[in-house]
Amino acid sequence: MKSKIYCPVCQMYFISKDSVEIGKEIICTICGARLEITELEPQFSTRRVPQDPEDEIYDRVETFAQMRGYVFDDNKEDIMSGLLEKNRKFGDFYCPCRFDNVPENVCPCLETRRNAVRKEGSCF
Ligand SMILES: [Zn+2]
Repeated sequence: MKSKIYCPVCQMYFISKDSVEIGKEIICTICGARLEITELEPQFSTRRVPQDPEDEIYDRVETFAQMRGYVFDDNKEDIMSGLLEKNRKFGDFYCPCRFDNVPENVCPCLETRRNAVRKEGSCF
Protein backbone atom coordinates (compact mmCIF):
# COMPACT_ATOMS: atom_id res chain seq x y z
CA MET A 1 0.00 0.00 0.00
CA LYS A 2 1.26 3.49 -0.78
CA SER A 3 1.20 6.10 1.98
CA LYS A 4 1.51 9.86 1.65
CA ILE A 5 3.78 11.08 4.43
CA TYR A 6 4.78 14.61 5.44
CA CYS A 7 8.46 15.19 6.11
CA PRO A 8 9.10 17.80 8.85
CA VAL A 9 12.65 18.31 7.57
CA CYS A 10 12.04 19.27 3.94
CA GLN A 11 8.39 20.19 4.59
CA MET A 12 7.12 18.18 1.65
CA TYR A 13 4.97 15.10 1.19
CA PHE A 14 6.52 11.94 -0.15
CA ILE A 15 5.07 8.57 -1.04
CA SER A 16 6.22 5.53 0.91
CA LYS A 17 5.63 2.10 -0.56
CA ASP A 18 6.51 0.43 2.75
CA SER A 19 3.86 -0.43 5.30
CA VAL A 20 3.61 2.14 8.07
CA GLU A 21 3.11 1.60 11.77
CA ILE A 22 3.76 3.70 14.85
CA GLY A 23 7.41 3.67 15.85
CA LYS A 24 8.61 2.49 12.47
CA GLU A 25 11.57 4.31 10.93
CA ILE A 26 11.37 5.46 7.33
CA ILE A 27 13.58 7.54 5.07
CA CYS A 28 12.18 10.63 3.34
CA THR A 29 12.63 9.90 -0.36
CA ILE A 30 13.00 13.63 -1.08
CA CYS A 31 15.67 14.74 1.41
CA GLY A 32 17.00 11.53 2.94
CA ALA A 33 15.94 12.43 6.51
CA ARG A 34 15.47 9.53 8.92
CA LEU A 35 11.95 9.77 10.34
CA GLU A 36 9.85 7.89 12.84
CA ILE A 37 6.09 7.43 12.44
CA THR A 38 4.35 8.95 15.46
CA GLU A 39 0.66 8.88 14.43
CA LEU A 40 -1.50 7.11 11.88
CA GLU A 41 -4.72 9.11 12.30
CA PRO A 42 -6.09 11.47 11.03
CA GLN A 43 -2.98 11.43 8.84
CA PHE A 44 0.48 10.00 9.10
CA SER A 45 2.69 12.10 11.33
CA THR A 46 6.41 11.77 11.74
CA ARG A 47 9.27 13.25 13.69
CA ARG A 48 12.99 13.23 13.16
CA VAL A 49 14.55 10.18 14.73
CA PRO A 50 16.47 11.58 17.72
CA GLN A 51 20.15 11.27 16.85
CA ASP A 52 23.37 12.92 17.76
CA PRO A 53 23.57 15.98 15.40
CA GLU A 54 26.71 14.71 13.71
CA ASP A 55 25.17 11.28 13.08
CA GLU A 56 21.95 12.90 11.86
CA ILE A 57 23.48 15.14 9.21
CA TYR A 58 26.04 12.60 7.95
CA ASP A 59 23.28 10.01 7.76
CA ARG A 60 21.01 12.42 5.86
CA VAL A 61 23.48 13.71 3.26
CA GLU A 62 24.95 10.27 2.64
CA THR A 63 21.50 8.75 2.19
CA PHE A 64 20.48 11.63 -0.08
CA ALA A 65 23.64 11.31 -2.21
CA GLN A 66 23.15 7.57 -2.49
CA MET A 67 19.49 7.94 -3.53
CA ARG A 68 20.45 10.43 -6.26
CA GLY A 69 23.71 8.80 -7.32
CA TYR A 70 25.79 11.83 -6.28
CA VAL A 71 29.36 11.73 -5.01
CA PHE A 72 31.14 14.03 -2.57
CA ASP A 73 34.10 16.17 -3.52
CA ASP A 74 37.03 17.38 -1.40
CA ASN A 75 34.85 20.04 0.25
CA LYS A 76 32.77 17.49 2.12
CA GLU A 77 34.39 17.81 5.56
CA ASP A 78 34.40 21.63 5.47
CA ILE A 79 30.73 21.66 4.54
CA MET A 80 29.88 19.11 7.23
CA SER A 81 31.67 21.28 9.85
CA GLY A 82 29.76 24.30 8.54
CA LEU A 83 26.46 22.44 8.80
CA LEU A 84 27.20 21.38 12.38
CA GLU A 85 28.16 24.94 13.31
CA LYS A 86 24.94 26.32 11.80
CA ASN A 87 22.98 23.69 13.72
CA ARG A 88 24.68 24.71 16.98
CA LYS A 89 24.12 28.42 16.38
CA PHE A 90 20.76 28.48 14.65
CA GLY A 91 19.06 25.20 15.57
CA ASP A 92 19.03 23.45 12.20
CA PHE A 93 21.30 22.28 9.41
CA TYR A 94 21.12 25.39 7.24
CA CYS A 95 23.47 25.49 4.26
CA PRO A 96 26.79 27.02 5.39
CA CYS A 97 27.22 28.50 1.88
CA ARG A 98 24.01 30.50 2.12
CA PHE A 99 23.26 33.56 4.19
CA ASP A 100 19.59 32.98 5.04
CA ASN A 101 18.73 30.46 7.71
CA VAL A 102 15.32 29.55 6.32
CA PRO A 103 13.63 26.16 5.84
CA GLU A 104 14.40 26.01 2.10
CA ASN A 105 18.11 26.23 2.94
CA VAL A 106 18.10 23.24 5.30
CA CYS A 107 20.47 20.68 3.81
CA PRO A 108 19.79 19.26 1.26
CA CYS A 109 18.42 22.67 0.23
CA LEU A 110 15.38 23.17 -1.97
CA GLU A 111 17.46 23.77 -5.12
CA THR A 112 19.40 20.59 -4.52
CA ARG A 113 16.18 18.65 -3.86
CA ARG A 114 14.98 20.04 -7.20
CA ASN A 115 17.92 18.55 -9.09
CA ALA A 116 20.32 21.54 -9.12
CA VAL A 117 23.25 19.11 -8.88
CA ARG A 118 22.23 17.42 -12.11
CA LYS A 119 21.80 20.79 -13.84
CA GLU A 120 24.81 22.66 -12.39
CA GLY A 121 27.21 19.79 -11.81
CA SER A 122 27.47 20.42 -8.06
CA CYS A 123 25.48 21.80 -5.18
CA PHE A 124 25.58 25.50 -4.37
ZN1 LIG B 1 12.27 15.19 3.66
